[in-house]
Amino acid sequence: MPTLRSILEERVREAEPSLVEDLGNHRVRCFCCGHCCPIPEGQAGVCKVRFNRGGKLYVPWGYTAGMQCDPIEKKPFFHAYPGALAYSFGMLGCDLHCGYCQNWVTSQALRDPNAISPPLEISPEAMVRDALDQGAKVLVSTYNEPLITSEWAVAVFKEAKAAGLVTGFVSNGNGTPQVLEYIRPWLDLYKVDLKSFDDRHYHELGGRIGPILESIRRIHSMGLWLELVTLLIHNFNDSDDELGRLTEFVASVSVDIPWHVTAFHADYKMNDQRNTTVEDLQRAVEIGKQAGLRYIYAGNLPGMVGSAEHTQCPRCAETLIRRYGYFIENYSLTPDGRCPRCSYQIPGRWAAEFDGQITDRPFLPHRRSRFVTITGR
Ligand code: SF4
Ligand code: SF4
Repeated sequence: MPTLRSILEERVREAEPSLVEDLGNHRVRCFCCGHCCPIPEGQAGVCKVRFNRGGKLYVPWGYTAGMQCDPIEKKPFFHAYPGALAYSFGMLGCDLHCGYCQNWVTSQALRDPNAISPPLEISPEAMVRDALDQGAKVLVSTYNEPLITSEWAVAVFKEAKAAGLVTGFVSNGNGTPQVLEYIRPWLDLYKVDLKSFDDRHYHELGGRIGPILESIRRIHSMGLWLELVTLLIHNFNDSDDELGRLTEFVASVSVDIPWHVTAFHADYKMNDQRNTTVEDLQRAVEIGKQAGLRYIYAGNLPGMVGSAEHTQCPRCAETLIRRYGYFIENYSLTPDGRCPRCSYQIPGRWAAEFDGQITDRPFLPHRRSRFVTITGR
């Protein structure tokens, strides 16, 4: 039986030329994420899924590790097409190794022997057709780190845009100028997980904070719609000092960037921390407000955080979008995204009208016959 590694080594193509540098002696440098790995002949980068064969960089192509239909609020995007169905897909591998990863079965493939998720063979055209069949308005690359599989995301997004879909990345934000320029023409929405504001914490997860902060600034300046999320973990990133510095940084980029602060539940290898409480979230929300952020959302504890699930007008305090978890209870923005009471312009990407939600909870695509599981171990 073929191994997962041998299956993936066959489903590749050469890297996009702007994302690779020839270092001589059959060595290459990859620019697809902030690690910028120099990769000798016969070796893979930190992510394990981009590798050097014969002095050329090969990258994942032609499969997905899974698809799911999500309310866009789950990504989370709260200022982009509220209520839309976000057809979500992922590949395998990640450039980080977070101990609390909820998607470790796909993200840690080829790194953790317990992470086994058989890929499905698929074309960009078939994926977009399936997304349209499900009623999706948005197509999102997520579940693994989308930056490291950018060539495939761009191929899918080209089809998606031709079909009138909106596109998005749910990412750790460990980008480079090269990869952000490459994806920019095909991407509308970008969510970055800002996991901490301490470089030592990022080292524990396998990264550095510098490229992530630079990428956040760059994504915002490029005009992509950006939202940030921080999973609040006790004794990891929840000190007043760290949250103060984190939210001041976000405010220095723009006070209009929505910041989601979400509750942690034990997962994967991080089982020794208690769950986040309502009081923890409320303290983080207050710190964000002091930094000047206008749109702060407390997540993962539906119905327990008061108005911190809703979108309110910063000028007149009118509740514009009322939520319970991912469910939209009430929507009152004008077609051009203004407060109906005082006409304040709310930043975001708004549909001309809110036409309800297909779902407020995830479901698997109704028909899977277009996809063939590639078996391996
Ligand atoms: S995507 Fe990142 S981790 Fe993977 S090879 Fe490229 S630079 Fe290295
Ligand atoms: S960056 Fe995201 S996908 Fe990668 S290991 Fe961390 S939580 Fe998982």
